[in-house]
Amino acid sequence: MIVDSVEALRAFGRRCQMRREQEKIDSVIRYYRNRTNPNLVRILDTTPLDGETRDARDLVASCYPRNPCGLYGCPCCGRRFKATAKLDVLKRIAAKCGGLPDPCVISFVTINGPTVPLEPSAVEPARRRFRATLTKVRHAKLPDTSWVGFFDITLGGVVHWHGAILHPGRSKAALARKLREDFPARRAVRVSNWEKEHTLFENLDCIVDYALVADRHVKRRKGKPIVDNETSTLIAKRIVCLQYMAQRGVQGIRLCLNMKSTRVWKTGVMFDKETGETIVVPEIEALILRRRNKAKQNRKWNREGRPALWPRRRATEGIRGVRLSATDNHGSDDAWDELECDEEGFEALSVP
Ligand SMILES: [Zn+2]
Repeated sequence: MIVDSVEALRAFGRRCQMRREQEKIDSVIRYYRNRTNPNLVRILDTTPLDGETRDARDLVASCYPRNPCGLYGCPCCGRRFKATAKLDVLKRIAAKCGGLPDPCVISFVTINGPTVPLEPSAVEPARRRFRATLTKVRHAKLPDTSWVGFFDITLGGVVHWHGAILHPGRSKAALARKLREDFPARRAVRVSNWEKEHTLFENLDCIVDYALVADRHVKRRKGKPIVDNETSTLIAKRIVCLQYMAQRGVQGIRLCLNMKSTRVWKTGVMFDKETGETIVVPEIEALILRRRNKAKQNRKWNREGRPALWPRRRATEGIRGVRLSATDNHGSDDAWDELECDEEGFEALSVP
């Protein structure tokens, strides 16, 4: 009798364990299909968290557009950071080349660095050392090239860098050969080809997106996410490590070498300080305009029936029947435009 119940209890325990493991895997697949904050929180809730991983979970859970958590690994905030950083990279490349470069003189490069445990105390120094190595390699071996890109870390703890390298007067193959001298490990250097059916701008847009997907926690193989029992724990750790790497926005993970030029961007137009000429890059202009219009649509305080107590909208929520007035022609509207264009409406959202 006793033996029977012990057996039954054990079987019950095993079933519970199996169900917990299945839940872990299901949550990762669900997030893989739809990257939202609730789905990420669901993953984090299937794994025991402590210290900073717990803090990160609570931050992601309480992240709302008006109260953004600011974590780079957060699906909502990460996407905002990405949009801003992407425009910044495209502007930098255009400024350096005085327009969009020739596809033969720019390459998308991935360089794998050290593999470290997913702990901030190991990741931070590794990123710093890897940054120093890349800077040194460029300076010593490829002084005529310009680099712009971002560091990232995989769930397996591989610190790596994705970015665009401008290499005028050098072929793609020659660039890859030079880089492989310093990073001889197998598959440590990958120089990708541009997709022929797309324009260079579309290609660039795509690679910067790829380099910046902080919320893409799970890798895939043959169209399926790579998931096991450890994945949810590793995702929690990666979010913390990414935050240590990125610090504020994407500040800490950006690597920008030899990208200075006499051309600057001002209110969506490129201007050459030396020759005084204005250069228009239609693709980037369109991107800026699109973002500006989107930011305008996002402005809930512009909605009909909203009382004119701008910008204190929280206090005025729920008051109905007040005519929209001063908000329409508020003097500093243009200033907002510019701010939202550059910061993707982030600052605008955190106004008290
Ligand atoms: Zn967030």
